[in-house]
Amino acid sequence: MKTALFPGTFDPFTNGHLDIVQKGLNLFDKVVIAVGENASKKTMFDLATRIQWIEDVFKNEPRVVVKHYSGLTIHFCKEVGAQYILRGLRTIGDFEYEKQIAMVNADLAPTVQSVFVLSEQKYTAVSSTVIRDLILHGGDYASYLPEAVTIGE
Ligand code: ADP
Repeated sequence: MKTALFPGTFDPFTNGHLDIVQKGLNLFDKVVIAVGENASKKTMFDLATRIQWIEDVFKNEPRVVVKHYSGLTIHFCKEVGAQYILRGLRTIGDFEYEKQIAMVNADLAPTVQSVFVLSEQKYTAVSSTVIRDLILHGGDYASYLPEAVTIGE
């Protein structure tokens, strides 16, 4: 079974993330969405909320599993039996950053293959960071989030 790990902070999970998971489901049998728990990284939404939203988004998709982890992504790949790491690319900036991580991961765990998926044009401007700004300053963010991601309800 081809299993991909889709790691991220998902603070919050956006339509851009959703697009990457859907594309991943066309490539792999199973996608494990791995929500990063990083004590030193302050998030707007706590871990339980971020996980609950993603579980709600995929409640009718048995091929998606949501888990959380701390530590190295490659170690978590081994733990869940994922042979692939799925990441999304929006911009050349994403590429430079992702390439660096993928190279180190490939050194440390040669059997785990990083796979990059381009987001659709309409999602290239969507990031959790921009959405958090919109939330903080009263902008309209609803069209960037899956319906199940309900902020402030
Ligand atoms: P991280 O903190 O690890 O970057 P994110 O939650 O910001 O976690 O992103 C997780 C993954 O989703 C990354 O591979 C990122 O490039 C990708 N991603 C985020 N937003 C989009 C988008 N709008 N289109 C495509 N990929 C995206």
